Order: sequence, then structure tokens, then C-alpha cells
Amino acid sequence: RAFLAEVHKRMGDLLGELTLNSARSSWPLSFQHTAKIVDHRLALVGDSAHGMHPIAGQGLNLGLRDVGALVEVLDEALRLGLDLGDAQVLKKYEEWRALDSLMVMGATDSLTRIFGIRGKTASALRRFGMDGIQRTSWLKGFFMNEARGVSGQLPELLKA
Ligand SMILES: Cc1cc2nc3c(=O)[nH]c(=O)nc-3n(C[C@H](O)[C@H](O)[C@H](O)COP(=O)(O)OP(=O)(O)OC[C@H]3O[C@@H](n4cnc5c(N)ncnc54)[C@H](O)[C@@H]3O)c2cc1C
Repeated sequence: RAFLAEVHKRMGDLLGELTLNSARSSWPLSFQHTAKIVDHRLALVGDSAHGMHPIAGQGLNLGLRDVGALVEVLDEALRLGLDLGDAQVLKKYEEWRALDSLMVMGATDSLTRIFGIRGKTASALRRFGMDGIQRTSWLKGFFMNEARGVSGQLPELLKA
């Protein structure tokens, strides 16, 4: 009852009356990466393909790029009269997404580790680094483009 009251206090009536369907549980946020995101007539997208810390708010963005890439690969296969579950077709999707996923996951995991280091020295070094990025326009632009997900080979669906 205390938990539901706290949730209600924070969310208001946004979702109407809330009830608990099961005991409360928690799952620690963790880095989950696999190079293999396709299998026999199967393709993973979004968090089923990768799990990362939400420190930089990139999970949904990455998932949308997965969907855009998969749609594009399947659309091309359809136009060529290929079977949509063909291993080569799905492999193309997997190869397209490999670098982007690894880069974003590597960056968010590094950020989590860097910001997790305690102590005044680490804090001063972080401030120094952030100030440096803030003052260096090309570096700031690079990080902003990465965070906005507009670098690399973007699927057509995400260019609009
Ligand atoms: C605290 C936090 C903050 C975040 N902030 C950001 C942010 O600012 N920006 C950003 O881009 N991303 C953010 N993310 C990440 C983002 O929320 C996820 O990457 C995104 O929701 C993944 O979408 P998805 O559809 O792949 O998976 P999910 O959103 O997890 O959807 C999967 C769905 O499948 C359902 N499901 C599971 N198992 C079954 C089953 N067996 N049968 C039927 N249904 C099932 C689940 O109930 C769920 O509804 C954040 C994540 C967290 C935890």
C-alpha cells in the first residue's frame, strides 16, 4: 500500500488507479551485448538485441535504428523476390547494426564507469574533460551528433 501511494504521489492520475499484480522485484541495470542478433527466421531488435545503462538515454534511439534497418533490408529482399527469412538477408541486417550498437554500448558503458569513480581527483578530471568538450566546438558537435543518432549509415525511415 505504501509503495502504491508513493507511485501515485509521483505520477498523479496519469495511469488511473494502480494495483500490484505480483510481488515487487528489481533487476539491476547491466551491459548486455551479443554479436549474434539473427538466427533461423529470427531477428532481434531493441532491448532484446542489446541492454545498456540509461545514462545517456540511447536505448530507444538504438532500437528505432534497428527497426529502420530491418525494415529497409526486408523491403529490399521483397523487391528482389527473396524469402524474407533467408539467412543472407538477415545477416545483412546483423552486419549493418553491429558497429553502431557496439559503439553506442561501449560509449554508454564507459561513461557509466567514468562517472562511477569516486573521489575528488576523479571528479576534477571529469569536470576538466566536460569543460574541454564544451569549449571545443567540433568535439561537442561530434558528441551531439552521436547522441542524436545522426551519424553513420542511417536507415531511410529515420532520415525524415
Ligand atoms: C530508467 C531508464 C531510462 C531510460 N531513458 C531513456 C532515454 O532517455 N532515451 C532512450 O532512448 N532510451 C531510454 N531508456 C531505454 C528505453 O526505455 C529502452 O531501450 C526501450 O524501451 C526498449 O524498447 P523495446 O521495445 O525494445 O523493449 P521494452 O520497452 O522493454 O518492451 C518490451 C515489451 O515486451 C513485453 N514482454 C516481455 N516479455 C514478454 C512476453 N513473454 N510476452 C509478451 N510480452 C512480453 C514487456 O512487458 C514490454 O512491454 C531508458 C531505460 C531505463 C530503464
